[in-house]
Amino acid sequence: MAPLYMSKTSSTQSLPMRYADFPSLIEALDYAAGGNTGMNFYDRRNQLVTVLEYRILKERAIAGARRLLSLNFKKGDRVALIAETDAGFVEAFFACQYAGLVAVPLPIPMGVGQRKSYITKLHELLSNCQPVAIISSEEWLPLVSDASIGIHGIHILSNNDLDALPENEIELQLPSPEDIAYLQYTSGSTRFPRGVIITHRAAMSNLRVISHDGIKLRSGDRCISWLPFYHDMGLVGCMLTPVATQVSVDYLRTQDFAMRPMQWLKLISKNRCTISVAPPFGYDLCLRRSNDNELADIDLSSWRVAGVGAEPISAALLSQFGKYFSKVNFDSQAFMPCYGLAENTLAVCFAQADSGLQVDNVDRAVLEYQSKAVKPGKKTRAISTFVNCGKALPQHHIEIRSDKGVRLPDRKVGHIFISGPSLMSGYFQDAASQEEIRAHGWMDTGDLGYLLDGCLFVTGRKKDLIIIRGRNIWPQDIEYVAELEPEIHSGDAIAFVNTHDHDDGDRIILQIQCKVSSEERRAQIVHTLMAHIQSEFGVAVDIELLPPHSLPRTSSGKPARAEAKKRYLSALTGLSPQAELAG
Ligand code: ATP
Ligand code: MG
Repeated sequence: MAPLYMSKTSSTQSLPMRYADFPSLIEALDYAAGGNTGMNFYDRRNQLVTVLEYRILKERAIAGARRLLSLNFKKGDRVALIAETDAGFVEAFFACQYAGLVAVPLPIPMGVGQRKSYITKLHELLSNCQPVAIISSEEWLPLVSDASIGIHGIHILSNNDLDALPENEIELQLPSPEDIAYLQYTSGSTRFPRGVIITHRAAMSNLRVISHDGIKLRSGDRCISWLPFYHDMGLVGCMLTPVATQVSVDYLRTQDFAMRPMQWLKLISKNRCTISVAPPFGYDLCLRRSNDNELADIDLSSWRVAGVGAEPISAALLSQFGKYFSKVNFDSQAFMPCYGLAENTLAVCFAQADSGLQVDNVDRAVLEYQSKAVKPGKKTRAISTFVNCGKALPQHHIEIRSDKGVRLPDRKVGHIFISGPSLMSGYFQDAASQEEIRAHGWMDTGDLGYLLDGCLFVTGRKKDLIIIRGRNIWPQDIEYVAELEPEIHSGDAIAFVNTHDHDDGDRIILQIQCKVSSEERRAQIVHTLMAHIQSEFGVAVDIELLPPHSLPRTSSGKPARAEAKKRYLSALTGLSPQAELAG
């Protein structure tokens, strides 16, 4: 297929680079449109199918805004965007900005066989954000229509439908920095996703520090991403950051990446990309699916920033990746761990550029019993390793607080609180959260961690912590053990505690999805892992081997431990998951 909107996009630009120092997303795009950079969309064979220069994006977004306004929408109305990683999504997103409408990116279904649960989830999301319109790519329209049944007064439009509307000739207004730019739904790892309110001011504050102080973008950089646009890392990190810094960016679709992960690395090599950010499972997929034959044409020497975040970062996994791909000139110094969340637009902190992975090894027993991260000593039996996620970005702040809200010193594990100009204005349809942010300006992230010389080490989520007889066990420590078996890969295991009446106290459940069919081998895996966990952690676990793809994941691919536990307990008690949730 010939590329649409043909015009040549290169990574060089004639504009002096500006690091997102604009009052709104509109002004950011207006500036980028003065240059010759833009977005390139690739298919699963790494063929370029669409080129969308920022110049053209601006023209199309303005036309889209005028068309949306012909439907008599008013400022602040929501428009849901449900689309693949394609040019239509970006145009509709910016059309909303020019029209003063609030864009609401929502997920598309991930994986096959999830039609029913997807429709139910989308229906709930739409009921929450109450959009006046949904803009979707053609292929998802039937699902979108089903999900909208019972919700009245929504215009459902494909990108082509939008193009066919007449343009309202009214003068478009520049947004004020306090206007809401978009709602970002959280991933839904621990609860049903919540709509985070992001103003132009918050978005621009985060984009400025991400580009200037975190990634330290340079003129001539070229980004690449396979993350979905509806996830904060995909939207802010990989769509808005390039626009706001006038940098070119290449996109692969998430599903195409999942099928053929090596296409990511091949495209980095071919286009000499310099920046790409992904959750740890992206690196893991490449490692698992690569073979030496495929490496022949790859050269990763251009890859300057390999960002990693969104989930607990396994240092072991990244060093394996670094070692394997050093054969094709991947430089492990490029690893840049980061920590962030939708409630802070995206980023809270980045590790120092060009310093690679920096880890802290701590005594696991002291961590579990005393919530302290101390260096291993002579009596240490086991260690836990955490990755340095760097210092809070300028003007942003991190504090570690105790259960009672007291600020804790270095190396004490507690609740991660954040504040700064990128903080959300609260959750949509939740006045209490909005008031809380207004009154205090700080937010409890729900994550636990510790500081060391100002640098953050994330130990896990408070809600997922397994507490057994006063001891804090991090689920990922148990889950990593499962990966010692060659058939079990990163993300194939979920650990949680069974709190349902057990005579001998709460027990840890380890659910593992795997392809192994031989009964003998399955029994061997269970036996080996139980023995290993017993000897390393001194706790008993019940291990369940489940079919592939059966563990619950969020729309952005994160493990949903709370959902796994809910399903497990409801199967155990015979209650429906809904009843368990309410309880
Ligand atoms: P929900 O809030 O709906 O349960 P979520 O928290 O996964 O879902 P996001 O805002 O997309 O939604 O993700 C942010 C979370 O991801 C953080 O709060 C943290 O738990 C996790 N995370 C992000 N970066 C890191 C990191 N470097 N190390 C460990 N965890 C991380
Ligand atoms: Mg969260």
